[in-house]
Amino acid sequence: MNTIIENYKVSGKPIKDWTIKEHNAALDSLGARIYKPFHGVVVLGGGSKPYMLKIRKETGNGEEELEIVDGLACYSAVPFGHKDPIITENVNKFIAGMATIPRSISHSYLGPWLVKLQEFTRMDMFLPKSSGTEANEAAIKAIRKWARHYGGSDGKGIKGTPIIITAHNAFHGRGLGSTAMMDDPTTRKDLEPLMAGFEQVPFNDLDALAVKFKEHDGDIAAVFIEPIQAEAGIFIPDDNYLSDVQKLCKANNALFVLDEIQTGYCRTGYDFAWQLYGLEKPDLITIGKAMSSGVLPVSSLCGKKEIMDLFEPHGEGSTFGGYPLASFVGLLTIHELEKRNITNLSAENGRYLKERLEQVAKKYPNKVKEVRGRGMLIGVEIYPNYDGHQLSMNMLENGVYAKETHETNLRVAPPIVIEKEGMDKIASALDASLDSLQEITGMRISC
Ligand code: PLP
Repeated sequence: MNTIIENYKVSGKPIKDWTIKEHNAALDSLGARIYKPFHGVVVLGGGSKPYMLKIRKETGNGEEELEIVDGLACYSAVPFGHKDPIITENVNKFIAGMATIPRSISHSYLGPWLVKLQEFTRMDMFLPKSSGTEANEAAIKAIRKWARHYGGSDGKGIKGTPIIITAHNAFHGRGLGSTAMMDDPTTRKDLEPLMAGFEQVPFNDLDALAVKFKEHDGDIAAVFIEPIQAEAGIFIPDDNYLSDVQKLCKANNALFVLDEIQTGYCRTGYDFAWQLYGLEKPDLITIGKAMSSGVLPVSSLCGKKEIMDLFEPHGEGSTFGGYPLASFVGLLTIHELEKRNITNLSAENGRYLKERLEQVAKKYPNKVKEVRGRGMLIGVEIYPNYDGHQLSMNMLENGVYAKETHETNLRVAPPIVIEKEGMDKIASALDASLDSLQEITGMRISC
């Protein structure tokens, strides 16, 4: 890249001349250790195709530049890949004339974006935020407000603590509300007491949910789940599970809320995953990630009018939620998704990629337990005597960035626009990576 920042001297050296070791050392000593990135590699930018990344990599005797396939799309945030000419050209033009203003004054993109959001999501009203976590925090507030006014068996409001039911192994983000929704002990470590009123049930277990409704007779305000558990390892519920959950919610006057932050915006071969299961419109959904083509963090709580109408001035707000750039890229993304028919492409490419990965998996029946996925959200589950992090490192060695989730799943979710050639590369990298994957003998290295 050719910006003034490449020549900006930091620690006495232009950034473009930093070695990989220097990058890693800064991350290790100055960045809180919230991720465990691959050492020995630095991404320089997009590659020669939208689904490629240009990287610098340590070799035995120095560093080399090469291109690899992006098999992760920033956890599904980059549907069109990197350096998309239409996205970059229009964002550049927009930024050149942009003003940054707060929501207390109108601008010319928010209104049109809300109208397009309504058409695209089929929901009634929107509360734009930046990160996915923030959208989920706003959803918790919406649920609590609704519960006070309209919850309970008589619809006159829940007087005690409104209960929100979530799923074991769910992932909803890093805010304290999202953390209270999740039961991963590492996520909750040292943070208790967390916000009260959250209970978990096993994902895809309707009976367990029915028991909760009986136990809490009238005090359940909502069931809040991912339509496909992505972070947990791409777990797909049975065909009728979500529609049965929705019916149970309706029968008990509780809200049915879906976290579509990863599954929305065409990732599963549908505009939204709730359409994949033929559901009625959910009461609330949260969206994020791909809604800005990966250019900047944009998210939203989306919901039915009677719930969203409970928000009022000063009760909620956001400096960057719905600001001009967010609204502009939000509109631009929907424009491009529609124009390029990305939903169909996701279904088509997803079928091809899953088939290719399944063909490879068949060669390693003792290593691969299952390949599962919908659209371009695919997981390869390996047996517990093999290590997912090792598999993702092998993939990188073989030219593909695809990251493990938990210990035994490899998430494969490339940019939706990936070409056949790119998908074939992912399949052949998986083949080589499984071939060299050794059984765990000592400590697991997964992060
Ligand atoms: N919900 C789901 C289902 C997610 O996958 C994620 C992120 O991976 C989030 C919420 C949190 O989004 P963010 O990281 O933008 O806060």
